[in-house]
Amino acid sequence: MTNFDYDLFVIGAGSGGVRAARIASSHGARVAIAEEFRVGGTCVIRGCVPKKLLVYASRFSDEFDDAAGFGWTLPGRKFDWASLIAAKDKEISRLETAYRTTLDRFNVTILPERAMCLSPNEVRLSASGRTISAKTILIATGGHPNVDRKLPGIEHAITSNEVFHLSELPRRIVIAGGGYIATEFASVFHGLGSDVTLIYRGPKILRGFDEDLRNGLVATMQARGIRIINEQVFTKIEQTPSGLAGTITGGETLEADEILFAIGRSPNSRGLGLEALGVQMDPEGAIVVDNHSQTTVPSIYAVGDVTNRVNLTPVAIREGHAFADSMFGGKPWQVDYSNIPTAVFTTPEIGTVGFTEQEARAQYGSVDLYKATFRPMKAILAGREERTLMKLVVDAATHKVAGVHVMGPDAAEIVQMAAIAIRMGATKTDFDQTMALHPSAAEELVTLREKWLAPGEAAA
Ligand code: FAD
Ligand code: NDP
Repeated sequence: MTNFDYDLFVIGAGSGGVRAARIASSHGARVAIAEEFRVGGTCVIRGCVPKKLLVYASRFSDEFDDAAGFGWTLPGRKFDWASLIAAKDKEISRLETAYRTTLDRFNVTILPERAMCLSPNEVRLSASGRTISAKTILIATGGHPNVDRKLPGIEHAITSNEVFHLSELPRRIVIAGGGYIATEFASVFHGLGSDVTLIYRGPKILRGFDEDLRNGLVATMQARGIRIINEQVFTKIEQTPSGLAGTITGGETLEADEILFAIGRSPNSRGLGLEALGVQMDPEGAIVVDNHSQTTVPSIYAVGDVTNRVNLTPVAIREGHAFADSMFGGKPWQVDYSNIPTAVFTTPEIGTVGFTEQEARAQYGSVDLYKATFRPMKAILAGREERTLMKLVVDAATHKVAGVHVMGPDAAEIVQMAAIAIRMGATKTDFDQTMALHPSAAEELVTLREKWLAPGEAAA
């Protein structure tokens, strides 16, 4: 037994913090967790979960359109934003309660206030002014959305924090950014009936994803009616009698009811007393940790977005779990960051695991490519022209499948399963020898026989 109030004090009850608290407690540690906003953190309260609910809502417009091709006649359709937001809020509250119940069940003390570090073993609670000691402190404070603070009129813009609580559906929305959040919300609002413009600083959105996915998604989003403006940024935003007017570098003025900034997120590492204690941070403010999530102060650890390793919920959860098992369970292990599957929930969505073609070429030199683009079965009767894209990137020397990239309905579901095969080191032959499941879209991944050759490239 120690003289500390707790064995573990967790700051931040989001994905990483809740998992670490629960697992540490299950190993017998005395645990407290401080949360300044709502238990569940970004993912549950204003990230993955509410986002996916809005994605589902936005896709009904396609379903209604497609239904006619299958003999359905639908009465006039009408969408009510307020009903959607109320239903979403109810579900988020239910989940928050479930998270609280779980922490209670594991005897984790929940402290509903902001916390900061006073010393390597002490935490100060802002509202109550209490000081609490702990043998180990875990920082799991997540991140916050960035905005261009110097932009005149930036106060008129919203971020992903506000987008879930708009009082009405914007008739016109302009979204700044070209990453996950910008593209996902472009699809959400377009599906719900808004007029959507995306403005991105670079030449092509979704930098870092496979080129075929990027090209396919850009073409599909544009064909659906989303305007994408590349290589421009806002120079000012002004309030007008009819809404907002955003001027962009090319001189054009974009009229909108809402302007959403989705230009990345930064770690919540400031104001936690960490600098004074000598906890090292990188220039972006991410807490620097080793493979065990330990900071430069031995009693202080950090997991999740505040460390800016891979900013995804399953990664934060696994980092929290590894920390708790290693520290309190006598079972040390480290997170494996290779082959993390990820999806962008645009419509159509994209899912990806492993190396992009470009990364595989850099890694292996010679790669074999297998690609299929096809109209999914459902699209034929629906009269929808959109094509699904499936691509395998194979290391030519070992025949191991190095990357799977899918754009189309259920891409995320397909890629989650493909990630198991990739992790196990499956070869192209393993894919070929796997029996197809018919009729499905995913069967294409096990029936791709012809190597894809670039125009002019001779068959071997
Ligand atoms: P968080 O979940 O952010 O939790 C940190 C918590 O700490 C917060 O509750 C915060 O209030 C609290 N806190 C901060 N400072 C203090 C303090 N000083 N004292 C007390 N409490 C404090 N990831 C996916 O994998 N899939 C998705 O589909 C996906 N969609 C997303 C959509 C959006 C719009 C956003 C913004 C993010 C999305 N993410 C998604 C990313 C995912 O939400 C994060 O990677 C994940 O939540 C990180 O977990 P975390 O534990 O590090 O931090
Ligand atoms: P992203 O990093 O995905 O994208 C940020 C975008 O903003 C990029 O297009 C970037 O351009 C651009 N950008 C960055 N700085 C500026 C600037 N100063 N001016 C104009 N544009 C700028 O961040 P998001 O905010 O979309 O999402 C944050 C993170 O949350 C994601 O990276 C992801 O980890 C997670 N997330 C995951 C989701 C999922 O799993 N489906 C969904 C939503 C979020 P450039 O590419 O040129 O740098």
